[in-house]
Amino acid sequence: CGEKLCKSETIKLRNKHIGQACQLFYRSDPLKIVRGQGQYMFDEQGTCYLDCINNVAHVGHCHPKVVRAGCLQMATISTNNRFLHDELVQCAKTLTGKMPGPLSVCFFVNSGSEANDLALRLARNYTKRQDMITLDHAYHGHLTSVMEISPYKFNQPGGDPKPNYVHVAPCPDVYGGKYRDSDYPNADMAEIYTKPIRDICDQLKAQGKGLAGFIAESLQSCGGQIIPPEGYFKAAYDIVRNAGGVCIADEVQVGFGRVGTHYWAFETQGVVPDIVCVAKPMGNGHPVGAVVTTPEIAEAFYNTGVAYFNTYGGNPVSCAIANAVMRVIDEEGLQENARVVGDYLLQQCREFKYEFDIIGDVRGVGLFVGLELVKNRETREPDTTAAHWIVNRMKQVHQILVSSDGPNANVIKLKPPMCFSQKNADEFLLAFRECLTFLEKQRDGDHLPASNAVNSNSTTANGESMASKAQIFERQERLIKSV
Ligand code: PMP
Repeated sequence: CGEKLCKSETIKLRNKHIGQACQLFYRSDPLKIVRGQGQYMFDEQGTCYLDCINNVAHVGHCHPKVVRAGCLQMATISTNNRFLHDELVQCAKTLTGKMPGPLSVCFFVNSGSEANDLALRLARNYTKRQDMITLDHAYHGHLTSVMEISPYKFNQPGGDPKPNYVHVAPCPDVYGGKYRDSDYPNADMAEIYTKPIRDICDQLKAQGKGLAGFIAESLQSCGGQIIPPEGYFKAAYDIVRNAGGVCIADEVQVGFGRVGTHYWAFETQGVVPDIVCVAKPMGNGHPVGAVVTTPEIAEAFYNTGVAYFNTYGGNPVSCAIANAVMRVIDEEGLQENARVVGDYLLQQCREFKYEFDIIGDVRGVGLFVGLELVKNRETREPDTTAAHWIVNRMKQVHQILVSSDGPNANVIKLKPPMCFSQKNADEFLLAFRECLTFLEKQRDGDHLPASNAVNSNSTTANGESMASKAQIFERQERLIKSV
């Protein structure tokens, strides 16, 4: 099902015709995924993988209600938003209905990059200024304009240099960041981390320049699943607004109920942005995004006299799909599921800290969790090699997909589809424990074993892998039969 070529042929054609710069997961042994259902993905041999990283397949891979909504609309009409269409206005009504009051006007786009690009245009037009503040390690997309505000990219050796109208404030990472909670006991970390924002604003003022805006993910994902200190965004937004700038929340990864307690991650900090950018989960795999802003900012954009047109942004198919996604989140109580399962997962992951020295920090909210691996808990020295090893072993031995990220690629990231169950959390925990136990045993030696060193007939360092393998095979069999 879904396979037209044998895997080796697919690899050959990809190597020949797809730019080598395009990222490929598990490059030395890539996965060929041909089908998905819920929180599971299947390769060409029918092997089932538990997906712990795909925050795009938000309500579950190929959710039938989303698929049906898209098919039906595609078979009816797909045109552009220069015609009236009910799916478009309903999508805008539902989306803005989920946002705080002043955020009532939408522009539809096709991706997170496009959303952030338009947000920059809106901010710069509204303030008639160009300078932006962004956070270190941030990623806001692949377009030229948003690469300029993405230190995650421009700080790489081959990246384009940062333009002088972009200013980088430290990422509010109190564990491994520039200012660590261990160095500032009892201090207000929000104040410490917002001081550089104040300094940038003061410098701009002294130079006779002003600030267009401040853009930040409400919880930084590429930065290593960062949970900013309480009060951080409130203080940051106050400083930015006092300097005449607008506040942009990039909710491309973390929006639509993932944090469990709220629909939007910025709400966890009690702030209201001036512009919110959404995409990825909104289409459950279909390209759709939006920029939501205030009537004042939208009106200033209109007053330029330059009409906004986006061929595919807001087409009826994309809007029908986004409407179905938002309906499913509500109907299936997925925000609440994220809260309950996320709390359980986080609490269980925290237990690892008592057993395994390699776990430096465990943080998260809802189904957005990070486990930071360190060589030494005192110095918090990152253990990048171990993170890489675990990512591969989780795939090869346990058929569980996780990824690592952060400036040192030592944070194991979990952001699964929102239908992730407590049983899935247990599967992850069991497999992860097996990896940690294996690692711990190897730590006295200098080398890591090959990530697939344990085959299905072996026992692990603590004798648990037979149990976990058996459970995984049982799950696979059950799923394959049920699909
Ligand atoms: N913002 C954030 C926070 C993202 O994580 C991404 C994609 N990883 C983008 C923007 C860009 O989105 P897209 O790939 O849909 O253009």
